[in-house]
Amino acid sequence: MLFQTLESLGHEEVVFCHNKDAGLKAIIAIHNTVLGPALGGLRMWPYGSEQEALEDVLRLSRGMTYKAAVAGLNLGGGKAVIIGDPAKDKSEVLFRAFGRFVNSLNGRYITAEDVGIDVNDMEYVLKETEFVTGVHQVHGGSGDPSPFTAYGTLQGLLASLSRKFGNEEVGKYSYAVQGVGHVGFEFCKLLREHGAKVFVSDINQKAVERAVDELGCVAVPPEDIYDCEVDVFSPCALGATINEKTLPRLKAKIICGAANNQLADDETGFEVERRGILYAPDYAVNAGGLMNVSIEFDGYNRERAMRMMRTIYYNVTKIFQIAARDGIPTFKAADRMAEERIAAVGRLKLPHMGNVPPRFLGRVRGV
Ligand code: NAD
Repeated sequence: MLFQTLESLGHEEVVFCHNKDAGLKAIIAIHNTVLGPALGGLRMWPYGSEQEALEDVLRLSRGMTYKAAVAGLNLGGGKAVIIGDPAKDKSEVLFRAFGRFVNSLNGRYITAEDVGIDVNDMEYVLKETEFVTGVHQVHGGSGDPSPFTAYGTLQGLLASLSRKFGNEEVGKYSYAVQGVGHVGFEFCKLLREHGAKVFVSDINQKAVERAVDELGCVAVPPEDIYDCEVDVFSPCALGATINEKTLPRLKAKIICGAANNQLADDETGFEVERRGILYAPDYAVNAGGLMNVSIEFDGYNRERAMRMMRTIYYNVTKIFQIAARDGIPTFKAADRMAEERIAAVGRLKLPHMGNVPPRFLGRVRGV
């Protein structure tokens, strides 16, 4: 049953990590390493069952393969989960035990932060392995990725405006931004710098007040954000907020935001297309965070990071071109772009070690 699932999802390797003394129960999933080592965050969550944890790590690691491939990075897709409550179960030994498992993979998997994990936890992982990104800036880390993700989202927006309206005048259009947390707030800041009219919603009233007071956004109750008369709807909160109930309410001509997994399911994606709304695929638009940590490999450099974010414009444009070329919705075109790149690079049949970041070369080559 498990191997059937791995076959259908295309995973290379799944590692079950157990250490009784440390209380560690973790799963590392390596989906695809054709383009390079599998990079993806570590999530800590009190999963209801081991099956739930396994499903999550398989789904998330596959998503990372596609995100890295479309972003043009020399990275594969992987992810790890620790079964536990981040509020109660964290300890030095837990993360060091996890770090040892990461190290045992010799660079095939590189970890980072995800839900439930912060830079302090990564400090412990770093004691046991070099194959970590998203560490503190004092260790050459890249710090908070949110401003970069927001800047990358703006590049995706420019490509979308160009496609839909034939110009890139951000300030000429109106926006409904759902969620003004780390990324949403920074994204609104950029929109407001262009003079755009921005409606915002958040279930956290303080976050809304901040966007209104500091940026001059217009507050909307969370449930009403779908009804705003705007040109662009921007999901920057949680996933699946575009679904059969909310989609008919949208007035926007473009959906472009930073949230992961914005479409509830494929059928919603087809319906977005039928309604003539241009959807900028989430994982292409929000790749800024991944790009940012990837730069840590050869010494973090902010200027380089900003330059890399701007490639999101071209990636999203290419997705729109593939959609037009093949007559498919943009969310399918993104997958196709990823699969085409992986297949093309895979056909080179050369070892990908040349792409491995110098900092990791010794370990990966075992010298
Ligand atoms: P965050 O937790 O800082 O912000 C999310 C905000 O959404 C919070 O303020 C929360 O109160 C709000 N929210 C939750 N449910 C809501 C709802 N129903 N309506 C309105 N607001 C709601 O998280 P973040 O780091 O800003 O990430 C936002 C999204 O972007 C997530 O989907 C995340 O996976 C994705 N993302 C983030 C990054 C990054 O660099 N932080 C990178 C890639 C993708």
